[in-house]
Amino acid sequence: NADTMIFASRIEEFVKGNQIAIFSKTWCPWCTKVKTMLTAQGKQFQAWELDLDDDGVKVQAKLHEISGQKTVPNIFVNGVHVGGYSDFSFYDTAGLLDELLAKQNLDFDYDLVVIGGGSGGISAAKEAAAAKKKVALCDFVTPSPRGTIWGLGGTCVNVGCIPKKLMHRAAIIRQDMKDAIDFGWKLPGDILDITHDWGTMCKNIQTYISSLNDQYIQQLKDNNVTFYNAKASLLDKHTVRMVDSNGLPREVKARNIIIAVGGRPTHLDLPNAPELCITSDDIFSLKHPPGKTLVIGASYIALECAGFLKGLGYDVTVMVRSILLRGFDQECAKKIENYMTSYGVKFLKECVPTSVAKYTEEDGKQLTWVKGQFNSGDLFEGMFDTVLVAVGRTALTKELNLDSVGIEVNSRNQKILVNEKDQTSIKNVFAIGDVIERPELTPVAIQAGKLLAKRLYKAGTELMDYNNIATTVFTPLEYGCIGLSEEAAIAAHGEDKVEVYHSTFTPLENSLRSWGTEDTNNAFAKLICLKENKEEFVIGLHILSPNAGEITQGFALGVRLRLTKAQFDGLVGIHPTVAEVFTTLKVTKSSGEESTAGGC
Ligand code: FAD
Repeated sequence: NADTMIFASRIEEFVKGNQIAIFSKTWCPWCTKVKTMLTAQGKQFQAWELDLDDDGVKVQAKLHEISGQKTVPNIFVNGVHVGGYSDFSFYDTAGLLDELLAKQNLDFDYDLVVIGGGSGGISAAKEAAAAKKKVALCDFVTPSPRGTIWGLGGTCVNVGCIPKKLMHRAAIIRQDMKDAIDFGWKLPGDILDITHDWGTMCKNIQTYISSLNDQYIQQLKDNNVTFYNAKASLLDKHTVRMVDSNGLPREVKARNIIIAVGGRPTHLDLPNAPELCITSDDIFSLKHPPGKTLVIGASYIALECAGFLKGLGYDVTVMVRSILLRGFDQECAKKIENYMTSYGVKFLKECVPTSVAKYTEEDGKQLTWVKGQFNSGDLFEGMFDTVLVAVGRTALTKELNLDSVGIEVNSRNQKILVNEKDQTSIKNVFAIGDVIERPELTPVAIQAGKLLAKRLYKAGTELMDYNNIATTVFTPLEYGCIGLSEEAAIAAHGEDKVEVYHSTFTPLENSLRSWGTEDTNNAFAKLICLKENKEEFVIGLHILSPNAGEITQGFALGVRLRLTKAQFDGLVGIHPTVAEVFTTLKVTKSSGEESTAGGC
């Protein structure tokens, strides 16, 4: 049955993943003797303590079936069953233990090779190394078409979360400076005279990123993970071929392989677009200020970039093919669009680019000439200093030679297909992070990497739970959410089972603001509840406000624990905060009552 198949595959993984794999019980004196003997000789082993495992009895029964041995310790070396205490100690007393172990070294250079040194890969490599496994990690960054390149740490550190959040912060500071005047600060000169230096910001951000790159290299060293700065592909299910930047090839054999190569921005399928347009790979280290910018795309990455560029003072237009923030709550997406519009970002809705070309002005200034077409058939034409394309990301699987090894990918998006254990169609090859069809977020990749290494090398059983992952979009008005959008909740459960509580309000921070065109009464909170057995379970939480990420992180726990609306109401708020709104939501959408809050 399904149960025994699961135990069989857990046993197989544990045995294959560990050179010396011992099924043991903490109180068993013979098990202790084996472990003490190996420890004294400095030999690496992993023990699966069956008495500490809820399924220990079932695992032992399956083990009996597989090995013919009923008792513990039940020892496997190099994937082969050796026996119990007396069988194993025979090798020791006969001086044959090293010979037995050496067989493995002939077969494999590493217990684990990780391909990709980003959030997921580094996390998995460190966890495996902590289990005393011999681990190698290879990472290689192919320059962007504009020649941008970076160091170890992957997308998040170099061209993702970190520089993005810092630029978002730079833009918010401008708003803070304007607010300062209403709070009584006397700034030297007119606020409009304050200018931003793109070069200084980029230089400082890049210096910080370099320090993070160095830290990652050091962490790998400290954890005894061998680092190869080389591009990898698979020759067979145990052999990784690496080619370094000088073109020098190397082959290594690994018992297990984890693929964590992430993705890169997708380019427009238009002539010259990769050369003339930039992507998020380039913006954070752009050598010159971006100037008048067209952002193509409506993903969170597109809107975040548009937001911070506008906040830094640039003229920004966003070209949107259909809707903003697909997959997110559309009421919140609309509010973001409205806020960004009042903030000065221009939107070209239902419009796609049809051509990009280089244009040189009389004074030699280089511009990009973009033509587009609206759904209505109307044409668009404009000149921009910078065109930033953010129309999605492509998994980097094409050059891994997966096909010939038999690793299946989704033909639609090239993402690697994995089961709930992050295992590919080849048993000893696993995949995590952006390269599989799961939420493309750093903490997801990190957690998946950690849990996978624990399952492989520490007899861990916990699977990555990809549901109810909180996230935040760092647009000028931040948007945090966890759980279902209103549309998804209704689609999943039906309108009559879903109750929505909501409120629009002014964050206290904005209350003295006398400048700007943005509506200060712009914060918005909503709880989406599932009506079940006279209870209302919170299955979606959404907030638009300053620091929405900080708020969402805290409440995410409540949603993951499937708390009820009554439990949210029972929580005493912290006053005055934005977050306290979730303890006082009263107005339901179905009531049609006014949801704008006033007063304290
Ligand atoms: P990556 O971090 O992409 O690492 C993969 C590594 O493998 C890279 O270094 C790559 O060069 C290398 N590699 C690829 N192919 C090979 C090969 N053949 N051989 C050797 N090495 C190879 N997530 C959040 O949680 N919060 C955010 O705010 C956020 N903001 C983002 C903003 C932007 C602009 C972008 C682009 C992404 C953002 N993300 C954010 C997403 C996050 O960065 C990714 O989900 C995360 O980095 C994925 O980690 P990973 O380990 O799967 O891959």
